[in-house]
Amino acid sequence: MSKTKIVVVGAGIAGLTSAAILSKLGFSVTLIESHTQSGGCAGTFKRKKYIFDVGATQVAGLEEGGIHSKIFKFLDIPIPEATILNPACIVDLNDGSNPIPIWYDQDEWIQERERQFPGSGKFWQLCNLIHKSNWTFANNNPVLPIKNLWDFTQLLKALVPANLATGILLKSTIFDLLRLCGLSNEERLIKFLNLQLKLYSQEDVYKTAALYGSTVLQMCQKPHGLWHLKKSMQVLSDGLEYSLKKTGVKIVFGQKVHSLSFDDKTKGWKISATSSEENIDYYADDVIYTPPPQSLLKILENSLMGNYNYKKRIKSLPNPSGALVFYSALKKEHIKSISSNHYQVVSNELGSLFVSISEDGDGRAPKGEITLIASIFTKTNDWFNLDKNLYIQKKKEYLQKISIFLEKQFDIESKNWLHKELATPLGFERWTNRPNGIVGGLGQNPNIFGLFGLSSRTPFRGLWLCGDSIYPGEGTAGVSQSALMVSRQILASRGINDFHL
Ligand SMILES: Cc1cc2nc3c(=O)[nH]c(=O)nc-3n(C[C@H](O)[C@H](O)[C@H](O)COP(=O)(O)OP(=O)(O)OC[C@H]3O[C@@H](n4cnc5c(N)ncnc54)[C@H](O)[C@@H]3O)c2cc1C
Repeated sequence: MSKTKIVVVGAGIAGLTSAAILSKLGFSVTLIESHTQSGGCAGTFKRKKYIFDVGATQVAGLEEGGIHSKIFKFLDIPIPEATILNPACIVDLNDGSNPIPIWYDQDEWIQERERQFPGSGKFWQLCNLIHKSNWTFANNNPVLPIKNLWDFTQLLKALVPANLATGILLKSTIFDLLRLCGLSNEERLIKFLNLQLKLYSQEDVYKTAALYGSTVLQMCQKPHGLWHLKKSMQVLSDGLEYSLKKTGVKIVFGQKVHSLSFDDKTKGWKISATSSEENIDYYADDVIYTPPPQSLLKILENSLMGNYNYKKRIKSLPNPSGALVFYSALKKEHIKSISSNHYQVVSNELGSLFVSISEDGDGRAPKGEITLIASIFTKTNDWFNLDKNLYIQKKKEYLQKISIFLEKQFDIESKNWLHKELATPLGFERWTNRPNGIVGGLGQNPNIFGLFGLSSRTPFRGLWLCGDSIYPGEGTAGVSQSALMVSRQILASRGINDFHL
């Protein structure tokens, strides 16, 4: 296989993982990244004495049998050092009621949620049943959505009898499950679920697909769990980069791919990239494209001209959210005693803030100091096309509003911030080259999730999509699963049908 050339576009977790798997299997892989470092939305940046996680701050799939663990084991590289988050998060609805710690231990969580949401047991049990059937299915490596016979056979092989029962919920939402359990008027429970689901599916209870939501609502508990990486999020990318170096992948940083075209003569792809100094063309049999598919409208411009339906499909993708992220640092003694690394807090003005606080001495800040990162969703359109002064003014206002809110929430005196800054969708666009700074992939509603989503297989032979807009969706664990799926599809296109981890 060493002669088969694959170009992977983007060194986020999806690109790094697919490049690592395929190179380990003997393919000749080149990885092109527009930034000067890897990681994308799960990368880090350094400011003064601090290391800030750009986007992702907690990791799923590091437990034995989890997707990151399986992939690191296959690559024969050490699994990054991490601690389990217990609680995974404390949710404060700010309505005068007690905050809700989401415990790792199953029994503790069952007791907590019964205390917090009396009578909701039926709903959680139903989610748990659906999740168990989902999980067995996902571990059997289905390919979704189905685009050809091979994909279909993978789906059939992955199905277990329980999926036939849960399959009837294909078009249902989490709200339908609540209704089924007689809980459709439980406002506090709905408020809590809305916050959690928005984080993981970009949708609320009314729109999140029941099959997707049931699983993400179980991710904080044993045997899964969410993890806090030692040092920073970058260690995940560093581990994968180490594997790429071992297997001889050519990694090119600082080059932005601006066009993909299929050459009928060579029956291969021409990948054109630019750096600050030059234009470079690469040639490949297969291309794995990991930036958001919305960017294909520009990159594939010529090929899309002849494929009206695909162009229409990409154009009709819903517009995902953007994020405002507040990066700050302070002395540990200057924040009220905290009992979790993560909080989700409701602000009437700002919506929900997801707050991530580093551990003292975990490598993100000098000893005795911590980093505090808070993110909120924002409409990307609100930040583009503003006059420069207006943009600066608006950014300042949000920085101030978020600081004041956090000061009140965590008893911080405003003089005690050692550092604070804000990233807007413009910053995310610059950092990740994601169009308009959109983040988090497509909202996981019943029209997008699973069978009905955007396929990794495109109508163009040898062009594959991967990343957080592809099944099973966002998060470092989700995009690693999509990287595994696309690797298996490429292997199958070469007649190797039985690759599993
Ligand atoms: C604020 C925020 C918080 C989050 N929190 C969590 C969390 O706690 N846990 C979690 O699991 N997930 C979280 N996520 C989601 C998670 O970070 C992403 O789903 C995941 O990292 C996406 O990985 P990716 O490889 O698909 O895409 P990206 O990370 O976007 O990687 C794509 C890469 O492609 C490069 N690129 C783009 N265009 C080009 C081009 N034309 N040429 C060359 N290179 C290009 C980019 O520079 C980038 O490195 C969060 C995201 C955000 C924004």
